[in-house]
Amino acid sequence: MDREISCSFCGRKKSEVNILIAGITGHICDSCVDQARNIVKEEVADKINSQVEFNLTLQKPMDIKRFLDEYVIGQDDAKKVLSVAVYNHYKRLVQDPSMDTDEIEIEKSNIVLVGETGTGKTLLARTIAKMLNVPFCIADATILTEAGYVGEDVESVLSRLLQAADYDVPSAERGIVFIDEIDKIARKSDNASITRDVSGEGVQQALLKLLEGSIVNVPPQGGRKHPEQKLIQVNTRNILFVCGGAFDGINRIIERRMRTSTIGYGSGEDIEADEDMLKYVTPLDLKSFGLIPELIGRFPVLTYLTPLSKETLRRILTEPKNALVKQYIKLFEMDDVKLSFDKKVLDFIVERAEEYKLGARGLRSICEAIMTDAMYELPSQEGVQDLKITLSYAKEKFDKSKISKLRVA
Ligand code: ADP
Repeated sequence: MDREISCSFCGRKKSEVNILIAGITGHICDSCVDQARNIVKEEVADKINSQVEFNLTLQKPMDIKRFLDEYVIGQDDAKKVLSVAVYNHYKRLVQDPSMDTDEIEIEKSNIVLVGETGTGKTLLARTIAKMLNVPFCIADATILTEAGYVGEDVESVLSRLLQAADYDVPSAERGIVFIDEIDKIARKSDNASITRDVSGEGVQQALLKLLEGSIVNVPPQGGRKHPEQKLIQVNTRNILFVCGGAFDGINRIIERRMRTSTIGYGSGEDIEADEDMLKYVTPLDLKSFGLIPELIGRFPVLTYLTPLSKETLRRILTEPKNALVKQYIKLFEMDDVKLSFDKKVLDFIVERAEEYKLGARGLRSICEAIMTDAMYELPSQEGVQDLKITLSYAKEKFDKSKISKLRVA
């Protein structure tokens, strides 16, 4: 008995469809052709749309820096280097290999930011992503381990990016990943050790795979808790990786290198005693610190952030687009209260942040300590139209708060 031929896509028999078209090894019915045509149409439209949207966001380095200036105070060197790196990275994305006959392939400009905690590394990366309107995620290098050990596989970094992109793979594939605390996966000494170094060098090796620009199988929910989940393939070729780390002690490494080197920077005598050495950081110093050369090679752009001075902290309070002071004013405005701060209060907040060594992150907790009572009481009080925070009010609230009980180190 002859078996009736059927559509190789939906399985319907010839008698159940209008037309069945024969191919070399199978058949396709008219409704599957229709469906396939619609899919193609949608996919093409999506591609064109994202290209258009993308072209609109490609901005020149000076524009990028200006945008960063609105959110991040100071750190001019880092901003400049970052703006150029991002510009080049996205130029590379719009480069159409089929149109380029000279075969000059622009390499990726992954970035390492070296600077004390709380100086704005994450903020810089986040602001860049905001400007470009691309998915952004933060991953902590310390929780990553080599495959097979307790902790998260490096692929989980991309799971987060996928989540940030709402599982839109093409969008995730041009996103930005910020890997924090990269210095914590440095190997313990410059010599390779015989014992396995699960949390250090092994993770660095595993990370290489992501940075290389390869197709990576990503568990959509991350982790290993869902072994049954279907893996999603993500091409990392165009994902920009930004790493940040405090690299505690790197100052000494830089200084030692500069004092002993007789070429390049002269004899080193012109280094001032308490000069911030970070601005002289080179890839060589990262190697001495314990990053493997292969990893350093994948991060062609290296820049530094300076510790925040009192003046910078003061500006952070009021100047950025979403500065803390502006946020409180907005919050009170919603209750029809006009809030203002005495200038001395702002100085007081900065002094406390410095004194308790809390940096920029501390500004927020100090402000909260001062403002909580007012934010609690005011919405229930009738007829209050103005609230001026004076120095004595701020001092009183701060002294009552838990932060003031912290011991000054
Ligand atoms: P890092 O990643 O270097 O540890 P973050 O970028 O997370 O530090 O900064 C912590 C917080 O401090 C930020 O959310 C931001 O509010 C504030 N901050 C730090 N540095 C700056 C800066 N240069 N300009 C504006 N705000 C800053």
